[in-house]
Amino acid sequence: MSLLVVGSVAFDGIESPYGKVDKALGGAATYFAVAASYFTHVDLVGIVGDDFTSKDAAIFRGRHIDTEGLEHAEGKTFFWAGKYSQNLNERVTLTTDLNVFAEFKPKLPEKYKQAKYVFLANIAPELQRDVLHQVRVRPKLAALDTMNYWIERSNAELRETLKHVDILMINDSETRELSNEHNLLRAAKHIFKMGPQTLVVKRGEYGAMLVDKNGVFCVPAFPLEEPHDPTGAGDSFAGGFMGYLAGAGQKNDAALRRAMVYGSVMGSFTVEKFGLDRLRSLKRTEIHARARHFLKLTQFKL
Ligand code: AMP
Repeated sequence: MSLLVVGSVAFDGIESPYGKVDKALGGAATYFAVAASYFTHVDLVGIVGDDFTSKDAAIFRGRHIDTEGLEHAEGKTFFWAGKYSQNLNERVTLTTDLNVFAEFKPKLPEKYKQAKYVFLANIAPELQRDVLHQVRVRPKLAALDTMNYWIERSNAELRETLKHVDILMINDSETRELSNEHNLLRAAKHIFKMGPQTLVVKRGEYGAMLVDKNGVFCVPAFPLEEPHDPTGAGDSFAGGFMGYLAGAGQKNDAALRRAMVYGSVMGSFTVEKFGLDRLRSLKRTEIHARARHFLKLTQFKL
């Protein structure tokens, strides 16, 4: 089943203890779409500027990604720059230039409007809502990601958008900021009142946690000896999670648990190299092998 995503397609500047790049292809929707395309067909909605070349667009070609909804406008592509701490656990944003996203009015191609699975990747909450409203029938599953930038600048818009989604998928510090609760289980209760009935908290090297009416499910992060660049790990997690669910056409508890594992698998691959380098060269057999490794990682007898 096809999966619709709206979010940033960007150029990133990244500084980590392992190296520095001034301008690499990135963006939440880019990481998400590439990760999800290993599981299902993806319809991409976003905007790029005239500095986005055919070579950049090659990341989407030869995959199950439809880019009719990727608008090309005059001006510069969204630019974000960040710097990681020595242990890669903390990141500061150095620059966020919305550029062409500032004036973006998304218009869904007709064929995207039947989407059953929708992911509102990190971008202005009003754009996320605008896209969701253009989908004809209420999707089987709508999920949303956001970050501190939008929680702080567009809080009311974000809360309005949250009323219309099933799953909120954010990191731990954003969960705390949005809910004003330090404890993640209490934070989940707050978030359920805002709309989403499922919360997925991405916790970097500590894995991810899903909370819903059935309780809590946790998945570890895949232990890596040489992580290089965590940029996009959260979006790749979301791509694996939503891609798996859309591909399987299910959303029951067992499917959600498997989706958590595929999310963690895709996030772990992204961290292994800079930017999209690892994700773009991945093979399906590697994905399934790593998912099987998760069984070994977590199985025990009582
Ligand atoms: P993650 O590491 O999963 O949080 O995602 C990093 C990606 O998010 C980068 O490739 C950035 O281009 C993109 N990004 C950073 N800040 C924003 C923002 N305020 N809105 C949309 N996308 C952003």
